[in-house]
Amino acid sequence: MKEVISFDMDGTLTDKKFADSVWRDGIPRLYKEKYEIELEEAVKLVESEYEKVGEDNIEWYDINYWMKYFDLDFSVEDLLKMYEDKIKIFPDALEALDGLKDRYTLVVSTNAMREFVDIQIGGIKDYFTYIFSSTSDLGMVKKETKFYMEVLKEVKVEPENFYHVGDHSIFDQEVPKKVGINAYLLDREGDYEGDHVVRDLREFLEILKGMYYGNCDE
Ligand SMILES: [Mg+2]
Repeated sequence: MKEVISFDMDGTLTDKKFADSVWRDGIPRLYKEKYEIELEEAVKLVESEYEKVGEDNIEWYDINYWMKYFDLDFSVEDLLKMYEDKIKIFPDALEALDGLKDRYTLVVSTNAMREFVDIQIGGIKDYFTYIFSSTSDLGMVKKETKFYMEVLKEVKVEPENFYHVGDHSIFDQEVPKKVGINAYLLDREGDYEGDHVVRDLREFLEILKGMYYGNCDE
């Protein structure tokens, strides 16, 4: 029987330093160069423009939009490459991927845009059969029920054979649960309790192994 395991990206497979650096350092630096102002001033200006748009709007996530908006003539690809050394894949993520890859179809379900996804998990992309981006694929800023329904349709499994893990209590747990997905909250800080809460992806791996060996005994 085909079973699918889905991972969130930011905060789950990788930390958030890469994306943060691009938004909070990279763009302000380009802005500083172009308009010949102090970096500190550029940071303030750029961040206040981000705030005006806000994270509920698709433009917030769209790096091409911001490059145009600030009139910065620099290649997005080159900008992202400049921060490549900030990319950090969590060691427990690698362990989980290695431990699960032979038994399950692995996918990524993220709200990050393709431009970021491609470089951020480019080094581990071979683990995944599909990579879904709610912003790039569906124009959806958050992973809503419709996003998970599309994912299920695409991978062609019933929700009971689909597992998702991520670090947001609403968009990685409550929402997927609504469509019947087995959703686990990754809580690296230890803020939540519950049987569908894991502290790292090693613990998630152990739960899935337990299910598999459990089934074998029957
Ligand atoms: Mg996340």
